[in-house]
Amino acid sequence: MSTAAIRDLSVFGEAIAYFNEAASLLDLGLGIRNILTHPTRQIIVSIPFQRDNGEIEVYTGYRVQYNFTRGPAKGGIRYHPGVTLDEVTALAFWMTWKCSVVDLPFGGGKGGVTCDPSTLSVGELERITRRYAAELVEVIGPNKDVPAPDVGTTPQIMAWFMDTYSMHVREAVPGVVTGKPIEIGGSRGRVEATGRGVSFVTLDELERLGIKPLQARVIVQGFGNVGSITAKFLAEAGCKVVGISDVTGGYVNERGIDVPSAMAYAQEHHSLDGYRGGDRIDNDALLGAPCDVLIPAALENVLTGEVARAVQAKLIVEGANGPTAPDADAIFRRRGIDVIPDIVANAGGVIVSYFEWVQDRQGFFWKEPDVNQRLREQLLDNFKLVREIARARGVSYRTAAYMLAIQRVVTTLNMRGMYA
Ligand code: NAD
Repeated sequence: MSTAAIRDLSVFGEAIAYFNEAASLLDLGLGIRNILTHPTRQIIVSIPFQRDNGEIEVYTGYRVQYNFTRGPAKGGIRYHPGVTLDEVTALAFWMTWKCSVVDLPFGGGKGGVTCDPSTLSVGELERITRRYAAELVEVIGPNKDVPAPDVGTTPQIMAWFMDTYSMHVREAVPGVVTGKPIEIGGSRGRVEATGRGVSFVTLDELERLGIKPLQARVIVQGFGNVGSITAKFLAEAGCKVVGISDVTGGYVNERGIDVPSAMAYAQEHHSLDGYRGGDRIDNDALLGAPCDVLIPAALENVLTGEVARAVQAKLIVEGANGPTAPDADAIFRRRGIDVIPDIVANAGGVIVSYFEWVQDRQGFFWKEPDVNQRLREQLLDNFKLVREIARARGVSYRTAAYMLAIQRVVTTLNMRGMYA
């Protein structure tokens, strides 16, 4: 596929815009740019499975192994009706830079099955997962490509995936996937890792801005794994969480939302709908409500140009992948609002996935405080480097993060040389 053809694909085409900006500042030659804007391998598989009522259906699954320069491909598996090859390619591309910017010995990958898991029974989900895993047996493995959960997939799905792979290769291989239940080789601290990481970078940046946690008003959009856990840790650090939301709507409370009670409510009712710990607010209005820190932790492209003009926060921390549309990014730069980009801000999950892979390979499991301490170091040491590049080159954190990530991949690529 030519670079021009790739640009016609929307999500991936947009994703490479950020890459190109950083590549120009690094003076990357056209040849290297060409290598890095092409996925190494894109796999499409058909997944026939039997419904509980006996009918046969066929779903489509994907695995994109974007880049192997720094190590095995790494990235989650998404089960969602909107999954396409284009989206999976963009997500695998992002994983390449996310793993590199926090200095993990991984390349980038991502997978997905176009399906709506909410319409599938447990048995159907298991059959789909096992057939999908079986189709990928030759191309995945602890030294080749290590999947993990993403939107719509769970530790249980990872357990079936690991079991199917292990049955095929005739030995137990926990390190073939991460995000597994602890009982079968998962890591302590993995479930909270992304939100914990988002809170680490937020508190670190607040310190640089001279804002004490006790003075910081925070709004979090999305109250799933990433959003709720980020809100919990920031509230524990003393920040006032003045707004939260989920797909059913938003809630504001100037005195501070009681995050544990909101989490308990969402757990019991499967959403925040009807929550009484704050005043209801429209989801878009929430993004423009007064606060110091805004944390989008739901979906892609929620911060549009129009929303960006209304945002009152001094700092935006991208808990979600790709929440800021390119035109909004330009507006935040013009308005002097710092954005900590997704590839740094939400890298806590993949960092602890890396720790899980290391523990599985050693057969030696760490205590949770050790996991959390190493997560903090790995994330903040690399965020410090991003900040130094941003200052030295006069660029945004996003551009600086891409520059660091791309430079690391290019250095490895040059050392390994091209096999042709
Ligand atoms: P999740 O499914 O647990 O939660 C998503 C939340 O967003 C839900 O509360 C949902 O109701 C809410 N939401 C959906 N649409 C919304 C809208 N229009 N307005 C407000 N809220 C809305 O998913 P998650 O695991 O928390 O992932 C969230 C984001 O973080 C995704 O972009 C994901 O790719 C990214 N991410 C997740 C991890 C991880 O470890 N879970 C790691 C890195 C990045």
